[in-house]
Amino acid sequence: MSDLNKLGLAEARDALRSGDVTSVELTDACLKAIDEADALNAFVHKTPELAMERAKAADERIQRGDAPSMCGLPIGIKDLFCTKGVPSQAASKILEGFKPEYESTVSQQLADAGAVMLGKLNMDEFAMGSSNETSTYGNAVSPWRRGNDDAQLTPGGSSGGSASAVAADLCLAATGTDTGGSIRQPAAFVGITGIKPTYGRCSRWGIVAFASSLDQAGPMTKNVRDAAIMLETMCGHDPKDSTSAELSVPNFEAMLTGDIKGKKIGIPKEYRMDGMPAEIEKLWADGAAMLKAAGAEIVDISLPHTKYALPAYYVIAPAEASSNLARYDGVRYGRRAQLAQGDGITEMYEKTRAEGFGPEVQRRVMVGTYVLSAGFYDAYYNRARRVRTLIKKDFEDVFAAGIDAILTPATPSAAFGLGEMTEADPVQMYLNDVFTVTVNLAGLPGISVPAGLDAQGLPLGLQLIGRPWEEGDLLNTAYALENAAGFVAKPGKWW
Ligand code: GLN
Repeated sequence: MSDLNKLGLAEARDALRSGDVTSVELTDACLKAIDEADALNAFVHKTPELAMERAKAADERIQRGDAPSMCGLPIGIKDLFCTKGVPSQAASKILEGFKPEYESTVSQQLADAGAVMLGKLNMDEFAMGSSNETSTYGNAVSPWRRGNDDAQLTPGGSSGGSASAVAADLCLAATGTDTGGSIRQPAAFVGITGIKPTYGRCSRWGIVAFASSLDQAGPMTKNVRDAAIMLETMCGHDPKDSTSAELSVPNFEAMLTGDIKGKKIGIPKEYRMDGMPAEIEKLWADGAAMLKAAGAEIVDISLPHTKYALPAYYVIAPAEASSNLARYDGVRYGRRAQLAQGDGITEMYEKTRAEGFGPEVQRRVMVGTYVLSAGFYDAYYNRARRVRTLIKKDFEDVFAAGIDAILTPATPSAAFGLGEMTEADPVQMYLNDVFTVTVNLAGLPGISVPAGLDAQGLPLGLQLIGRPWEEGDLLNTAYALENAAGFVAKPGKWW
């Protein structure tokens, strides 16, 4: 077999089980692809020795006939996940040199199932951003280009390294995290699949916290079947995370029948934004037509509080971030600033945080501290929390009325050029999350599926939002959409 790095998880799993390929061969192919792709700046800490060690162990396990689905499959891990003995920096300067003594639950579950970690993936600093440009490692680059234009494009954010690595076949799949869209938006920008499960499905333990009431991990994969396989391994109750749900995890892959006859798919009118590009409108209408042709019923629905979602998110997320990031003070983790003679503990905190956090993170900490301060708590934070309840109720109402899933665009545009948005004011960047943040605020599962190309040849994604805890059903609807859309485009290799 050649080009083993180009395989998806299901294909590689089947080839491993039938003995057509070994994990060592798969891993070797990925490590070579990674070494050729430094221009993408996707892998920021490579762990080739560890990968080979795990690949050999996986091959032995497969030979013994003890092979869970992920066994022997080489994947990348977002830098936000703590991985024992391996740098885990959340793409921040403040965590320079931090090598955790522990492993996040999700990456541990993947490792226990025999998955092979190839290294750590680039991202926005502390997962704050939509373009991977806030990373201390410098931005990741999308493998895609606009036609023959060689301008570099963003792979999206915050899981930009994961997106770029999977789309460029540097690994078979990757982990991502999603607080406001960071799995779904980058997946859409690079033409791959990304699912954020219901809040509480995956343990947050050992994942560097951004906004704890919104953060969820999920897989970023080459197709929907792979997402089902990897999600199953990542999910499950964890006593170390009090918000993790005590629910059994179904066999998601077995639920992929492609049969969506009689399912009711809602089209929310509030997601039709002013100034939305015609291409996105068309993609959305085409997606609805495909689901209809597959036997679903398309229903117009209303989610009336949608317009308050972005402002509420950009109060709640920074508020939680400002509290979570208070622990980075130069005492316990990572990097401490150089101190001058006579500096006390206050100077140490101030210098460490001023040097260690980038501008976007500092902005969020300031906004968060402001909205939580005594005089403003009610006016901002409490009000945003009430708005959040209303947004959640909008979804509860449509699900109670019989809607099975909701179809929306994943992003308001195709990938933009690196640097193009950083000139604009930060709110422009925040607008990227307009279709995704509602899902985090309501704690629902959401998946982005590549569904077409724009006029410049760049991927566009559609988002499906499901009922809580019904990821299996959601994946099946996504599978039907994937089959109908038949998206097969790949970026041409220039790196
Ligand atoms: N782009 C959003 C933000 O900057 C979402 C990030 C995320 O989901 N981690 O907050």
